[in-house]
Amino acid sequence: MNHLQTAQSVLNEAFGFDSFRPGQEEIVDRLLAGRNVLAVMPTGAGKSLCYQIPAIVRDGLTIVVSPLVALMNDQAAALEANGVAVACIHSGKSRENNVMDWRNVQGGDVKILYLSPERLMTERMLTVLDAIKPGMFIVDEAHCISKWGTGFRPDYAALEHLKARYPDATIGGFTATADATTRSDIADKLFGGDGDTVVHGFDRPNIWLGVVPKTQWRNQLMEFLETRRGQSGIVYCASRRLTEEVASFLSENGIRGLPYHAGMSNEDRQQNQELFMSDEAIVMVATIAFGMGIDKSDIRFVFHLNLPGSMEAYYQEIGRAGRDGAPADAFMIYGLDDIRTRRQFIEQDSSEEEYKRKEHKRLDTLLAYCEATQCRRVLLLSYFGEEEAEACGNCDVCQNPPTLIDGTTEAQMLLSA
Ligand code: ADP
Ligand code: MG
Repeated sequence: MNHLQTAQSVLNEAFGFDSFRPGQEEIVDRLLAGRNVLAVMPTGAGKSLCYQIPAIVRDGLTIVVSPLVALMNDQAAALEANGVAVACIHSGKSRENNVMDWRNVQGGDVKILYLSPERLMTERMLTVLDAIKPGMFIVDEAHCISKWGTGFRPDYAALEHLKARYPDATIGGFTATADATTRSDIADKLFGGDGDTVVHGFDRPNIWLGVVPKTQWRNQLMEFLETRRGQSGIVYCASRRLTEEVASFLSENGIRGLPYHAGMSNEDRQQNQELFMSDEAIVMVATIAFGMGIDKSDIRFVFHLNLPGSMEAYYQEIGRAGRDGAPADAFMIYGLDDIRTRRQFIEQDSSEEEYKRKEHKRLDTLLAYCEATQCRRVLLLSYFGEEEAEACGNCDVCQNPPTLIDGTTEAQMLLSA
């Protein structure tokens, strides 16, 4: 059997899955061949398997660095249930249990060892590992190593010395969120750029994309909702005050709108969320506080009444629509007021010039998306590093290509008037 066939049989037998999902096999293949890889795939795409299978198939020990004790425990328990020899050392366990796992590692029985970054990068741990010579290091949530993205963690910083210490080891990084700058920064820090970056699975073809300038939001919102009565959806607003205002406005117009924001009492929030989950026809009018962990597959639309926080935030927020694969709509209206507010926020937020410059640039990227004159999906996917050659046919730009008006005649008339 070649290594991919072995990987396939581990997928079937240890994990009980029929086939790889798009993108998984490509990453497995590279790690098995000893290539360094940075893999960027959305949450839920199945990144864990992409390194667990190579870890099982390859000789020797693989170390997986993960930022959260809960994540390590979950993964270790799942692997153990599948009969994989796994160990886990972190501060959330008793000393005896850690020692027991450590003995197993030294005994050579363990295939995968989960460690927190601060545990790994101590001289004491590294000295012991020098003797064991792990064949592969995997950094999960790899965006934490970069100051460019969101979510930098100081305890990840030391991981940039891993490559120098273990030049023969294969290094893999995995993340769901990294724009182009962040991606190359991560690849640089993890393996000096000597490896492949693979981006996959960001397309959600069933979600129609549309963006228009804000004129009168009440009319625009009602026009949008008029044809979607009886459907579940989310209206995202930039402020708590606005969610309340919009929710009452909808109720006055015969649409069941419920507010959701962090300023509400836990009970009220809980209640609105439960209604939204169980009822067919509720429009949740929410700040970004709403969404994490919402598992409702038949959300038919996401309407942005204000600019989202970033391209990443936009992608995550619209991604809550159409999880069932049926057609869904993502519509945004954006106005000068949004842009002004956001610029002010950035200016007040920090005194660090570098940070401000970065944030203004992120906002510019978002605005470029809003004002796109080419397929929005192509733009969105290329932002996440995914190549999509063809226009999608399922966004407002594809459906109504902007006509380039020859303004010469008008201009001449104006000038001669
Ligand atoms: P991520 O880390 O990318 O957010 P996970 O690795 O946690 O995603 O996987 C998400 C879910 O997908 C898990 O329940 C996992 O078992 C499942 N999964 C992953 N790969 C496959 C596959 N090839 N076939 C079926 N289910 C899969
Ligand atoms: Mg994961």
